[in-house]
Parts: sequence; structure tokens; C-alpha cells
Amino acid sequence: MNVYDSEQIAARLIALGYQQTGTLETADLVIVNTCTIRAKAEQKAFSFLGRLARLKSRKPGLIIGVGGCVAQQEGAEIFRRIPQVDLVFGTQAIDRLGLLIPKIEDKRCRIVDVTMTDKPDPPDVVPNHRFDHSASAFVTIMRGCDNFCTYCVVPHVRGREASRHPDRIMKEIRDLVQSGVREVTLLGQNVNSYGKKENLWSFPELLYHVNSIEGLLRIRFTTSHPKDFGSDMINAFKINEKVCDHIHLPVQSGSDRILKRMNRKYTRELYLDKISKLRDNCSGIAITSDIIVGFPGETEADFNETLDLIKMIQFDGIFAFVYSDRPNAPAVRFKNKISEDEKRKRLQTLLDLQEDVTRMKNQTLVGSVQPILVEGTSKKQSSGSLERPRSTVQWMGRTTTNKIVNFCYKDSPQRRTDLFPGKIVYARIEKAYAHSLWGEPVGVNTTTGGLKGEESYAA
Ligand code: SAM
Ligand code: SF4
Repeated sequence: MNVYDSEQIAARLIALGYQQTGTLETADLVIVNTCTIRAKAEQKAFSFLGRLARLKSRKPGLIIGVGGCVAQQEGAEIFRRIPQVDLVFGTQAIDRLGLLIPKIEDKRCRIVDVTMTDKPDPPDVVPNHRFDHSASAFVTIMRGCDNFCTYCVVPHVRGREASRHPDRIMKEIRDLVQSGVREVTLLGQNVNSYGKKENLWSFPELLYHVNSIEGLLRIRFTTSHPKDFGSDMINAFKINEKVCDHIHLPVQSGSDRILKRMNRKYTRELYLDKISKLRDNCSGIAITSDIIVGFPGETEADFNETLDLIKMIQFDGIFAFVYSDRPNAPAVRFKNKISEDEKRKRLQTLLDLQEDVTRMKNQTLVGSVQPILVEGTSKKQSSGSLERPRSTVQWMGRTTTNKIVNFCYKDSPQRRTDLFPGKIVYARIEKAYAHSLWGEPVGVNTTTGGLKGEESYAA
């Protein structure tokens, strides 16, 4: 979501005549878009701001802006901690940047704007500015959250849930496809409740319409709240061939006692039931999740229930976090906090368990042929190995189940031009690792639609 917001910020700056620089040192203005979901994210933001403050002592004309959730949470307090900051703007102030920045340029004053409204429809977005020209793009479909999980800062810094009008979303996706995008990830804190408050299309209806956009190959979305995930969503996976075979369904804990204290509004049994219905109807679907370890009051027995749930479900992957207190979130006041040492220990146990599961799941793909949406050349070009002889470039892309596949495309001048971000390559999976797969291309798709789970491929 912050990547998307940063692109929105960049679009406003470009409209003011700014250009993106290659290095921090050459910039006249730096905006830090912050996250405060966990304590560590906030610490990182302040440590980066400290670096910028030192840069400003050598370059006094530099304008420093702080946006995002830390800005919303801390407001003018940021000026006290880092006096070199010129602008603090909250999560709903991006639209006002076009007015705020010229004021600072003219008057060299300090401004804080953290006003939030409960308007049902967030202000329209300006045409998207993208930092890269990859084939995959994020599209925010809703903002804020009404769920108030007791550990979470989001409702306090992003405001109440509000869905964007489907016409705007459809237009934005069509424009992205025009510019070469082939995959979109629809973003919201709980996409399952899209449109309900405003009486717009439901989320399955939105998926149905996005699925009809010509030239778009893949649709992903995040995040689904398990309490609102039902048969209509299972059906959406079945009828929309562009919706990828992957769902991220954060469970947070395997213990009913902890789920209740987290205010998650589902039980372990209900979650297991939803997973089993999903798997019965959408065979081969990849399921990933978020888990918090060391929530206040989490006993050894509660933690073991989480481990047990992981063994039962066999997720394709998880994001696991140690609980951290967040300002205004009710769990700050909960008793029986878990020590940092114990939280780290539990995290490691959980990650070790999941790594074995992920490796084993990846192993089952060896020998299969998978359609891969090419994202670009691989950042890590493993230097001259069996996988990659020195003369060839290593590419990377993803399966519809969201697994990273690295591969080389054997050179022939004509074949080289076949390959670019946004192409579908069919690869036979040859090796499975904990975090990626290695594939051997066996064909490139020459058409543009209907690729989910396709059995055949063009060799
Ligand atoms: N809306 C999504 C949902 O309900 O699943 C989650 C969004 S949140 C940005 C991403 C993840 O951060 C959560 O699923 C949770 O696991 C984790 N998280 C949120 N607050 C946390 C906290 N105080 N400490 C540790 N992890 C936290
Ligand atoms: Fe936070 Fe819960 Fe909302 Fe997700 S659903 S953003 S975890 S309050």
C-alpha cells in the first residue's frame, strides 16, 4: 500500500515540476513515506530521518517531508524529534501536497497536515506515476479499516474503511494495461468488505469486471479477512480465469483464546473449515498467512496450538511477526506481556517449522510445467553456476501460485527478443529451494489471455 501511495506522491511532485533523482545527495526535496505497523518500521523511519538531518546540515536548502502512518501518528511531535523536517503530512493529505509544497518553497515555513475525514469516497487519484515499468502494478481499491484488531494501529492512522468507486478502479486498470501492465494486485485491508458500506459492487463483482479487461493476464489481491471470506469468494476463484491460484488469509494465531483477545471474530475451527472448503473447490490453490507470536498473554499452550495449526494446514508460506505494542491499539494495556527473548525463541521455532513445510510443498512442483509471468532479470545473477552459465542472463517471474521461479533463456537472437517483462514463459520446474524454484523454459506464450492453470503450452 505504501508503494502505491509513494507513486501517488511522486505524481503530485512531478506535476509541480520535480524530477526523480538517482541519488539522495542530489535531491532538492526528499519525502519519506513511513510505516508504523510494527515498532521496527517506525524505528527505521526515524533512523533514516536522522541521516537526512545530517545531509541537510551540508545542504541547508533541502526540503524534508514526512508522510504516511508515522506522520499521521506523531504529527508535530516529529518536528521536536527531527527539527530539520519541513513538512509532516498524514495518510489523507497526499492530495493536498500540490498546495503544501509550494507554500514551503515560498515561505520556508514548517507545515503539519494530519487532517482526516470520514468521507465515504476517498479523493480521486491522479494518473498513476510508476517507479518502474514492470508488468505488475498495485491498485488501491479501498482505504482504512473498521475491524479494530486489538494489536493493530491501522484504523487509528488510516481512518475508517472507504471504498473507491469501481469506475475509477476500472479506468485506472485499463490505463495501466495500456501502458504495458499485465498483472494487478488489488489492495485493501479487508478486500472482502469492498463496496459494502457504500453499496457499490461487491468484491466478487469487482473481480468479475476486472477479469473482463482485455490485455490483463493476472489478478491478485490482498488482504482477505477470514471472517468475511465465504462461498462467493470461492466462486470468484472458480469463474474468473485471470484470478491467480493464491490467497493470503492471515490467521494470526491458532488459539481461540488469543484470537478472541485479538478481536479477530473467527475461531480456529471456522478458519479450518474455510480452508477445507477452499481446497475442496479450488485444487492446487496456494494459501499463505500472517502470524503474530508473543501476543500479550500467549501461553506455551496457545503457541503450541499455532504450531499445530501450521502442521495441519501446511501453508505455502507465512509472514511471521513478533508482537509489538502500537500507540492507541488496545493491546498496549493488556497484561502478561511476553519477554523479547521468549518472542524471538517462538518466532524461530515457527519459522523453522514453516521452512520445512514450504520446502516440501515446493518440492512437489518439481517436474511440472508452470506458466510464469516474467517480472524481469533476476536481481541476484548467480555467477557462473550449473544453473546459469556465464554468458546467459538469469530471469525471474512468478507462478500463478505466487512462487518465484528463476530461469535462463538459452540464447538465440530471435528467442532473446521473445522475452521481456509481461511475457508468459512455460517452465519445467527442475529444482525447489525454500524461497524459490529453478525452471527450464519450454515455451513462450504467444497470446494474451486465459492463462490460469492452462495445461497446454506452446513449445
Ligand atoms: N488487514 C490485514 C489483516 O487483517 O490480516 C493485515 C494488515 S497488517 C498491515 C499486516 C500484518 O501485520 C498483520 O496481518 C499482522 O500479522 C501484523 N501486525 C499488525 N500489527 C502488529 C503488531 N502490533 N505487532 C506485530 N505484528 C503486527
Ligand atoms: Fe489491522 Fe485488523 Fe484492520 Fe487488518 S483487519 S488492518 S489487522 S485492524
